[in-house]
Amino acid sequence: MLRWKKTRTRLSQKPSLTSLLSGLVIVVVFLTSTILLMGTYDSKKKSLIETTLRLNLSSAERMSKTMDSLFLSISSSLRYNAAAFTDLNNMKTEVIDDDLGHMYNSSNFFNSLIVVGANGIILNAYPAGVTKVGERASSAAVQEALSLQKPSISAPYTTPNSKRLIVLVNQPIWGRDGSYLGMLSGSMYLQEKNVISEVFGNNKADDYGSYYYIVDASGHVLYHPDKARIGVDLSANKVVQQLKREESGMLQATNLYGIDMLAGYSAIPANGWGVVMVSPVEVIRHQLYGHFRTLITYSLIPFLILLAGVVLIARRLAQPFTQLADLVSQMGREPVKLPEVKHHLSREADLLTKAVFLAARNIRKQTEQLTQEAATDALTGLLNRRSLEYTMNQWIEAYLPFSLIILDVDKFKLVNDTYGHGTGDEVLKHVAHVISSSLRPGDVCHRYGGEEFVILLAGTEPGDAYAIAERVRHALEESSPPIPGKVTVSAGIANYPMNATDRESLLDKADAALYRAKSCGRNRTMVADEEAVAGSVH
Ligand code: GH3
Ligand code: MG
Ligand code: MG
Repeated sequence: MLRWKKTRTRLSQKPSLTSLLSGLVIVVVFLTSTILLMGTYDSKKKSLIETTLRLNLSSAERMSKTMDSLFLSISSSLRYNAAAFTDLNNMKTEVIDDDLGHMYNSSNFFNSLIVVGANGIILNAYPAGVTKVGERASSAAVQEALSLQKPSISAPYTTPNSKRLIVLVNQPIWGRDGSYLGMLSGSMYLQEKNVISEVFGNNKADDYGSYYYIVDASGHVLYHPDKARIGVDLSANKVVQQLKREESGMLQATNLYGIDMLAGYSAIPANGWGVVMVSPVEVIRHQLYGHFRTLITYSLIPFLILLAGVVLIARRLAQPFTQLADLVSQMGREPVKLPEVKHHLSREADLLTKAVFLAARNIRKQTEQLTQEAATDALTGLLNRRSLEYTMNQWIEAYLPFSLIILDVDKFKLVNDTYGHGTGDEVLKHVAHVISSSLRPGDVCHRYGGEEFVILLAGTEPGDAYAIAERVRHALEESSPPIPGKVTVSAGIANYPMNATDRESLLDKADAALYRAKSCGRNRTMVADEEAVAGSVH
């Protein structure tokens, strides 16, 4: 019992076929997707990095072309205007101012313009007041450009007076005789609205965090969406170093703030500056996650459909097995009617069902046969003593009144002794046959022992039982047995509940009556608790 309980508990702890298959599908789908995603993650990341780098390169190249042509225009404008100052020393200040004003207003190239004499004195400035006219230019950049005596662009520097971060574009002024008269310089206020910021518009970092910046030939930032970074020296930056070496290219590098960046860069030939377009690598990760999120979202529905399908199939697969288990366990308790054989999803289920049904039919047949054998007597085919006791118990339990006749073949030992055991058996068969044929339908004869028989007569009074016993006795007397002479029986009758209320006592009473019949000379019938019935002896 304890063992059975343990087995039951262990069984209920085991997963069902449905959970097993569903689990298997989930694991397989999960592993496959993970492997696939992991496989595609690297290649997708590489291709996204490659694409971003190329895009940044082409943006940087496009922008550098734009800046290049802008600078050619700026240079030629400066050249053109400087050419108008060949007679600088003799020109009226107002005329020069007018020219500067005209130049200033006809383009948006510069935030201010100055004319510096060869001696370093600022001769003119536009708009008025941007610097002190008539004084010596105090910034080193102006003095340096002046001494160069050729077109130049300064590095970004902060003006001593107005404290502005500017870049100065210089064009020498030559006299008609070829003498050096000074220079015409335009300045760009890097941290204010200037020609570069106008070209780049609102170059804020886009949704992906990409933006442009411009560095000059020395690696100083001239333009950056983050104004705080304008003027910063980026010469240590890998991209800037690379930019000094080649015209354009792309590079994955860490910026000064330790952020991994994808940069496309291109030099501006006109001024030696460089345009850099950068995107943080983080962008790629976001794009990848977005890509995988979409992928997972799209595969979720097919996966759920697949899972539902698997659960359905698993249930249908498991159904025959659970049904068979129920059937077999029911068979152990009660007689079961076998259901019709259905076709199942799997061949194994069909085979098992067929095998179980076949086994069940065989078991039923064998059980019926064994039940039959257990209830009957092999020699005579009559019901045996066990059946007799069973029926008596049933009737007594149900308080069903009945009579029983116990019959014993007279002097049977003599038959055996005279004709042998085999003939004795034949005689017993003959006796059984005659008894059975002389009974009413419903009255049942049992072989009680060797040559003793008991007839059960439901709802029969002792008087009627006596008549029946007599009929049987006469029939036997008049029959032709397989031996010479006659075969007779003696009979004892008892009634439930008249003579006894339990089986043993009832049989004892009948036996006692039989004993009396034997004592009185055999071949007669006696009723329990009564004197011998007259005329029963022939
Ligand atoms: P009584 O008139 O007093 O009943 O005498 P009896 O000889 O019939 O009585 P007894 O009980 O002495 O003998 C019964 C015999 O029946 C003994 C036994 O060998 C025989 N017998 C019992 N069962 C069988 C059987 O199955 N086949 C055969 N051939 N003989 C059997
Ligand atoms: Mg006997
Ligand atoms: Mg006998």
